[in-house]
Amino acid sequence: MSNAVNSPTNDATSTTPASAVRHPAIETEEHRALRAAVAALGKRYGRAYFTNAVAAGGHTDALWAEAARLGYLGANLPEEYGGGGGGIAELSIVLEELGAAGCPLLMLVVSPAICGTVIARFGTDEQRRDWLPGLADGTRKMAFGITEPDAGSNSHRITTTARRDGTDWILNGRKVFVSGVDIADATLIVGRTEDARTGRLKPCLFIVEREAPGFGRRPIAMELAAPEKQFELTLDEVRLPAQALVGDEDAGLLQLFAGLNPERIMTAAFALGMGRYALERAVDYARTRQVWKEPIGAHQAVAHPLAQAHIELELARLMMQKAAYLYDAGDDMAAGEAANMAKYAAAEAAVHAVDQAVHTLGGNGLTQEYGLASLITAARVARIAPVSREMILNFVSHQSLGLPKSY
Ligand SMILES: Cc1cc2nc3c(=O)[nH]c(=O)nc-3n(C[C@H](O)[C@H](O)[C@H](O)COP(=O)(O)OP(=O)(O)OC[C@H]3O[C@@H](n4cnc5c(N)ncnc54)[C@H](O)[C@@H]3O)c2cc1C
Repeated sequence: MSNAVNSPTNDATSTTPASAVRHPAIETEEHRALRAAVAALGKRYGRAYFTNAVAAGGHTDALWAEAARLGYLGANLPEEYGGGGGGIAELSIVLEELGAAGCPLLMLVVSPAICGTVIARFGTDEQRRDWLPGLADGTRKMAFGITEPDAGSNSHRITTTARRDGTDWILNGRKVFVSGVDIADATLIVGRTEDARTGRLKPCLFIVEREAPGFGRRPIAMELAAPEKQFELTLDEVRLPAQALVGDEDAGLLQLFAGLNPERIMTAAFALGMGRYALERAVDYARTRQVWKEPIGAHQAVAHPLAQAHIELELARLMMQKAAYLYDAGDDMAAGEAANMAKYAAAEAAVHAVDQAVHTLGGNGLTQEYGLASLITAARVARIAPVSREMILNFVSHQSLGLPKSY
């Protein structure tokens, strides 16, 4: 038996792109067609469009609008409200492919994936009619705020509190790191009712319009090159009508988890896209950069870590696909475990891929011309948010393995 590597790319001078083996045939025809179409859109905009928007302090509105026009932004939302009638599987393809083209749309993680899902599944008819068409066609966006300065990873400790005043609700509290509040028409705020101030979290979700009196926002200076900004929010006696409460006051936890699983799956897509983008730049470079008699990609010390990064990204995508499949099939419990694992795997794969990509370019890995170094920070976001690597390891230790809890 020959031990030759049976690969179209085993010749260092081959020009066959690594992406030729990238899209697994386990996907349906429709999914592959969607990937190809979104990739083509991403390519038309490309990394320069994204970095120019960041440098100008602007947003990626043109790409957002075109992706919306093509029906990609609401891929997971119900058709009767203008969505594509698909699931998180489709939306994650959209985000991954835009990211792989160098222009990820972070708001996809929050607006259609979390907020759209929660409203579609648990909102009242009125909330669905009010919000879903706009979220689906991209004309409206919704941010999502759960993190608090004194709670962080421990969401059970959140203190943003809702109290009743007649039929109205009054909200008080603080949030941090909430993305895109300035460009969102409203923020879905996770609070707790006054009678549930202590003990196990009994969350309730409120739609807070951007300019609601008492709803303040302050941008947080981040070392992150992204068009979406993060905000500290203050809720100071914010008066909301009864219909601002999403769904049922007593089913908040179920509703919250219904939104958090898509968030994790979409964060995996975000990380995968970024990792693929970085890896492709590194592979291109390693094929052509020559300082000895062969391109640097012929040296296994350069090639193997890139191959390893490719394998890790592929494995992470498999887990993301599993999580999306389970979620779209309505198995929230199984999807919860898979979504956590997918987010973990994709974040780790992206961090490694970006690190190796930067290293592969030598000094050019740190130049603005090649623009890879800023991805070091960006990739770390996926390791921290929306739930940190350690909290996922805690989840798997306790829930999957049945080990005791230390906290
Ligand atoms: C770019 C960006 C965008 C974000 N966007 C949003 C958003 O739109 N909406 C929103 O609500 N939030 C958002 N976040 C917040 C994000 O979800 C939190 O940063 C994250 O949940 C971690 O919380 P923390 O920063 O308070 O860290 P902490 O909870 O303070 O954790 C600090 C460190 O301690 C570790 N740690 C904590 N507890 C344990 C434990 N029990 N065992 C082991 N290790 C532990 C963590 O893993 C972490 O490494 C965003 C964050 C970033 C960076």
